[in-house]
Amino acid sequence: MEAELMKSFMESGVYKLDESDVVFIDPVRVLNESYSRFRLSPSAYYSRHFASSSTPNEKRKRKRKIKDAPLNERELCAEERHQQVRPLLVNAHRKLLEASQLLKILPEIVESEVECRERDVGCDFVELGSSWRAPFCEIALCNGVQNEIENSHGRKLVPLFDNIISVESDDDVEAEFQNATYVLPSRSLFLMSDLRQVRKLIPGESAEGFNLIVIDPPWENGSARQKAMYPTLPNRHFMYLPVKELAHSDGALVALWITNRQKLQDFVVKDLLPAWGMSHVTPFYWLKVKPDGSLIGDLDLFHHRPYEFLLLGYVNVDFNSECMHLKESRVIISVPGAYSRKPQLGKLLAEYIPGQRPSRCIELFARELVAGWTSWGNEPLHFQDATYFLEK
Ligand code: SAM
Repeated sequence: MEAELMKSFMESGVYKLDESDVVFIDPVRVLNESYSRFRLSPSAYYSRHFASSSTPNEKRKRKRKIKDAPLNERELCAEERHQQVRPLLVNAHRKLLEASQLLKILPEIVESEVECRERDVGCDFVELGSSWRAPFCEIALCNGVQNEIENSHGRKLVPLFDNIISVESDDDVEAEFQNATYVLPSRSLFLMSDLRQVRKLIPGESAEGFNLIVIDPPWENGSARQKAMYPTLPNRHFMYLPVKELAHSDGALVALWITNRQKLQDFVVKDLLPAWGMSHVTPFYWLKVKPDGSLIGDLDLFHHRPYEFLLLGYVNVDFNSECMHLKESRVIISVPGAYSRKPQLGKLLAEYIPGQRPSRCIELFARELVAGWTSWGNEPLHFQDATYFLEK
């Protein structure tokens, strides 16, 4: 049984630890399904950070500080929520620790890749996109790309910012911009723009809308590290995301990443989800582990929980005609990627997506492309830099 699960995991990147309630995933293998000529470099994907964990003494110090300070009303709510979900997470982690074959190869999967190409800081699309130079920036595409203008050297130049770029090819396509190469997966489409332009993606007909909408907003959280990584937006801005307009008339599953902060959780439940018309909401949890299978931090450490929330709900769905399976919380376990990268969710959520097949999927605030998906954000090419890839 374990051998069969392992075989399937090596091919798909998904290991069902418990019927279907707990899954372990290798996001690199999952993303590799988007590419034909390339594959992701595990050493570029995974964070080196978890190889050297902080010392037990440091952790104890932080924990004691929190324990000594009395919790305010919001913190008490957060603690209560944590205590409710704790048994689910402990059980999920226990299931991972029982999967001995998976645990044995985990360090290899994450750390084995010797080949690690030197990576410069890369293009700062966020800064460039907001500068006066943005309208003059063009990206050169090899082939298989729509709306191209061919120049004298046979390369196809298209405006990079505020322009919908669609890869029509069934193969990976390479693109060049400012002396760097980018790998674009087949049948992907992207719009690199500020929030003000997102409405360009609303389909003319709602029957051409999206069946899966993944959203990972740049929430403000006061962390200096995050501020350096990407710009954030005040919560009220997310109320203007055209979620209903992007949804397919047969309905859409919306997957929203949120952090543990109680103030944010209150805003999302009271204001944001009603504004988007999202109903039948169920929380999933992303539990983060190190390559040795241990949690990335103490489960009970108040401000540094080793898990994040993924709220799933529906927009435009007629619940009388549709039979939805989304009733219980589930746990997704993985070793986190570097730069706070989230695991790709399409495959895990496929069974909950309403409507036609293949489903039409979009990611809002994306930093990567996926074959067959639409990606929008102010830097959707961020992780498409060729230095994140190896040739197959
Ligand atoms: N899900 C992504 C991943 O796993 O890599 C991370 C998304 S990150 C939380 C939020 C993204 O939103 C960042 O790339 C950030 O630059 C982008 N962003 C911030 N402000 C934006 C704006 N006004 N318009 C478009 N994108 C914005």
